[in-house]
Amino acid sequence: MTALLAGPFGPSPRCGTQSVTIGAGAGSVKVGGGAPVVVQSMTNTDTADVEATVRQVAALARAGSELVRVTVDRSESAAAVPHIRDRLAATGVVVPLIGDFHYIGHKLLAEHPACAEALDKYRINPGNVGFKNKRDLQFGQIVEIAARHGKPVRIGANWGSLDQELLTHLMDENAASSAPLDTRAVTREAMVQSALLSAGRAEAIGLPRSRIVLSAKVSAVQDLITVYRMLAERSDYALHLGLTEAGMGSKGIVASSAALGVLLQQGIGDTIRISLTPEPGGDRTKEVQVAQELLQTMGFRIFTPQVAACPGCGRTTSTVFQELARDIQTHLSTSMPEWRRRYPGVERLNVAVMGCIVNGPGESKHADIGISLPGTGEAPAAPVFVDGVKTVTLRGPHIADEFKTLVEAYIARRFGVERAAE
Ligand code: SF4
Repeated sequence: MTALLAGPFGPSPRCGTQSVTIGAGAGSVKVGGGAPVVVQSMTNTDTADVEATVRQVAALARAGSELVRVTVDRSESAAAVPHIRDRLAATGVVVPLIGDFHYIGHKLLAEHPACAEALDKYRINPGNVGFKNKRDLQFGQIVEIAARHGKPVRIGANWGSLDQELLTHLMDENAASSAPLDTRAVTREAMVQSALLSAGRAEAIGLPRSRIVLSAKVSAVQDLITVYRMLAERSDYALHLGLTEAGMGSKGIVASSAALGVLLQQGIGDTIRISLTPEPGGDRTKEVQVAQELLQTMGFRIFTPQVAACPGCGRTTSTVFQELARDIQTHLSTSMPEWRRRYPGVERLNVAVMGCIVNGPGESKHADIGISLPGTGEAPAAPVFVDGVKTVTLRGPHIADEFKTLVEAYIARRFGVERAAE
């Protein structure tokens, strides 16, 4: 993993991971090998429901998901995958599709060659690919199909479905050791070994390292950090990061950001997924937004203009500045699909919306364009700063709309001119 931007603490200490290309042609995505960290997500529709799945894949892709995974859990789902692929192509949605397989992946891929071809990557879980003497056989069948179709595979171990034979073996070894580790440490070791041993088997069968991505997802932050550091120390496979079962709302966002932030800062991780549990009827694209915001706030990638807003305090008795900050953020987000085409580079824009004179003018001067609203007891005037210079003072009931107009004019002038000069 290499940061697109220089991070605040210097370059990544881990470089030279394998580069894995997912998809073909103009729509392909590079993971690892120095490419910017890729954002991915997963649908929660029944994959057999083509309409619903196409709708959600398209929404996730439009929100910025660069890879989208769908579950392929039964024959009807596998049969639907080529239709989903075709429908997405017909509506102009170009995003690599990943199939998530458990238990019967070998059977589904063998019986549905059109599904095997339509998918751009397969995800398999070494903990449930098969049991006892069938495990290696069925794992080998999936890998052979991937090799035949030229598809990469993610070997994704998971704390909740860890290879029990391997875990039992390591527990027995540990019990016989003169200095036994605690159970949690042995389980972490089993996670790492499960992923690495399976990757080694895949290579022996004929899948090149450049078609293998590893993950070892855990639901506790400290365990996740430890497991991925171990994986990074012991291999150069491209790594998919994610805190599994992160949870709902702010808990899921904070836990994922804490775990992934530490690892990304250490240069560990080539693609990320934020596994948020949506509220009932909630928007699945939230996980894409959080992943982008994590990468952008850490300075690794730029996706969308940023609004710096103060938290407000007793110096602001009205909600004017809160509403303006929200309106501006919403306006920027909703305008981005069009602006991205018309104003290349607009995602680098910084806007400040501040509540009073204490930090307002100073913060506004640091932004590309900023406004300092009047706090309690201040004159009802809102100075606007453009590129660090005070240009105008807004007054009256239409400050929000007037500021939005100024922001749009700034974008057209700065990024429109850049485009014309290209
Ligand atoms: S800028 Fe003013 S309103 Fe905003 S938090 Fe600071 S003191 Fe409070």
